[in-house]
Amino acid sequence: MLTKLLSRAECAACKECCVFSLYDIWEQPALSPENYQKARLLLPDAEFIHKGQESFLFRIRETNSIPHSDLFLCPLLDTEKGCLLGTEKPFECRIYPFQVTELNGRLAITLSPLCEVMLQKPVGTLLEVLKTELAEKIFSYAEQHPDIIRSYDDRNPVLLWKSQNFENYLEELNHVESKL
Ligand code: SF4
Repeated sequence: MLTKLLSRAECAACKECCVFSLYDIWEQPALSPENYQKARLLLPDAEFIHKGQESFLFRIRETNSIPHSDLFLCPLLDTEKGCLLGTEKPFECRIYPFQVTELNGRLAITLSPLCEVMLQKPVGTLLEVLKTELAEKIFSYAEQHPDIIRSYDDRNPVLLWKSQNFENYLEELNHVESKL
C-alpha cells in the first residue's frame, strides 16, 4: 500500500517491523481471521492468543528469538524470502510505519519512529499521500476492524486526525514552523 513512499528493496533490506523486543512484543500485528487461518496452515506448531473482537496474536516462544539478544522474530518472517503471507500480510504490516491510534475518542494516523526511511521524508509528502490515497482506506478499515487501533503512545507523532482538513493542517503547520 505504501509503494509511493517505500520501495520493496528498502523494506527487504530492513525488516525492522517484523522484529520485536521483550518490551514491545505486544506490538506484533493483529492477525485477522483470514491471516490466522493461513498462518495455522503455514505454521502448524505455532500457538496463538486472542486479541480483541476477532483477531489473534502469536504466542511468541524462545524458538523465535534472535540468539544473544532480547529480540524476537515474527514467526511468519522467512529471513530469506520475507513475509510468508506475501501480499496477504496483516493490514497493520501493509500500512507500517503508519499506525492507527485512538485518543480521547478520536482516531488518528501516527508514524512509528522506527522506520528510518520514512523519517527522512518531508512531513508534507507523507501527508499528501495519506490525504490523497490512504487515509480514507486506513480509517475505514480501522472502524470495521477496531482490533488494529492502538492506544496513544507519545513516541509516535500524530500525522493526521480523522476528518481533519488537510489544507488547514498544512496552514497550521506552516504557521508553527514560521514561529520556530
Ligand atoms: S506478518 Fe509478515 S510482515 Fe507482518 S510482522 Fe510478521 S513477517 Fe513481518
